[in-house]
Amino acid sequence: MKELTHFIGGRHVAGASGRFTEGWQPMTGEQISRVPLASKAEVRAAVENAKAAQPAWAATNPQRRARVLMKFLQLLERDNDKLAEVLAREHGKTIADAKGDIQRGVEVVEFACGIPHLMKGEFTDGAGPNIDVYSLRQPLGVVAGITPFNFPAMIPMWKFAPAIACGNAFVLKPSERDPSVPLMLAELFLEAGLPPGILNVVNGDKEAVDALLDDPDIQAIGFVGSTAIAEYVYARGCATGKRVQCFGGAKNHLVVMPDADMDQTVDALIGAGYGSAGERCMAVSVAVPVGEKTADELMRRLIPRVESLKIGPSTDSSADYGPLVTAQALERVRGYVDLGVKEGATLAVDGRGFKMQGYEKGFYLGGCLFDHVTPDMRLYKEEIFGPVLSVVRAKTYEDALSLCNDHEYGNGVAIFTRDGDAARDFAARVQVGMIGVNVPIPVPIAYYTFGGWKRSAFGDLNQHGPDSIRFYTRTKTVTARWPSGVKDGASFVIPTMG
Ligand code: NAD
Repeated sequence: MKELTHFIGGRHVAGASGRFTEGWQPMTGEQISRVPLASKAEVRAAVENAKAAQPAWAATNPQRRARVLMKFLQLLERDNDKLAEVLAREHGKTIADAKGDIQRGVEVVEFACGIPHLMKGEFTDGAGPNIDVYSLRQPLGVVAGITPFNFPAMIPMWKFAPAIACGNAFVLKPSERDPSVPLMLAELFLEAGLPPGILNVVNGDKEAVDALLDDPDIQAIGFVGSTAIAEYVYARGCATGKRVQCFGGAKNHLVVMPDADMDQTVDALIGAGYGSAGERCMAVSVAVPVGEKTADELMRRLIPRVESLKIGPSTDSSADYGPLVTAQALERVRGYVDLGVKEGATLAVDGRGFKMQGYEKGFYLGGCLFDHVTPDMRLYKEEIFGPVLSVVRAKTYEDALSLCNDHEYGNGVAIFTRDGDAARDFAARVQVGMIGVNVPIPVPIAYYTFGGWKRSAFGDLNQHGPDSIRFYTRTKTVTARWPSGVKDGASFVIPTMG
């Protein structure tokens, strides 16, 4: 069995804490690795390496830094198949979906290659007599990222690519459930010419996270994961004076208007509801048909599609989706299906009995579909993170809009309609961070920002796009007078440019 490592100061370092967790291969249900769980001292070693390497990296001009990112892109392309295979085996998603996971990260690395332009400050010539004012963007120093299991390539790259491009050094604490790809990314970046110590990976659990939160040399923390932990990381990180942004859980609705193209809507719901076994923060988990006729028609079309979903091992290129990430995740999601039945929702398709032939120990669950779900049910209120779609019937458009707005989460939402007025009104009034109009998974492209509202995010700035440059830099503003020899005597009033 493989024993994984940390990656500190440009080399693999064996775990020294004596604590490990099991790494699983979800498609077979076998343990394939032991993942070391870092102690406070191991986290400190990573931070010290980062701190020592950071000043020289920050002093490297942005164009040279960008060239290292460009070389990293070439290596990501060279090793794309290998990365996708490892990712799929450790996470459970299909290889095609794993390639999408990598690609979405690649797009943010591409964005970060524009760092010479992105870090430019502002300049005002002649703001006062002989006075120019300009602003500088400078890196923060050592920053850290704590990431979830469900996008082990994309989310680490969303964090470290802009941070490193800005001249920071980075300590990544990936999910302990699938840390192999993050370790491979660190190796590739080093091969691309990144100096040792600029990207470190420490594997671990709460102990490592707490060590990062309390470390006085870490200036900023970017977290992605469940809402309870996001809230904890935000509070503790802010209490120690850091800049913190935390992205949490979701319950994404897709509103189906009576005039929607039903073929397109059903395809969208099937892909966005069940792709990656529903383990996406932008998965659609609630469909909201407007009007009984729309709801009946939607259910009539959805049921056979959910029943005929093709579930398979991650290596099966014809599978729609693979297993869940762990046995615990499977039990949790199954528990929600049992709960939904108890709460009185109609289980129109029951995937609980699904068994994958030849892979009986894998963590598979058939697609589940609930009708007549109501807003008071836990099935509706809580994030399930599995292949379970709930249909909540709304009487009117206003009811559908209120449903989205009243939910505690506000990550993504979509409306399917041919009515431009309705779509525009929805985008303007819905209390959610990312909105799709006839697009079921509206993850913004890399040069826009990604982030939810309400209890789906804590902090002021979003991920990737221009906000990532703001998050990973701080601004200095210089007021300069040239020629310097102008003498206008001592002044005891606040200087103005008037
Ligand atoms: P998680 O909260 O269990 O873990 C996230 C990270 O926090 C991991 O690195 C983990 O090691 C660490 N962690 C876990 N327990 C901790 C504790 N008690 N104290 C400190 N750190 C702890 O999340 P997950 O199961 O890996 O990922 C799924 C969740 O992530 C879902 O809720 C999903 O919606 C969310 N997610 C959100 C976004 C977004 O951008 N909003 C994107 C992807 C995933």
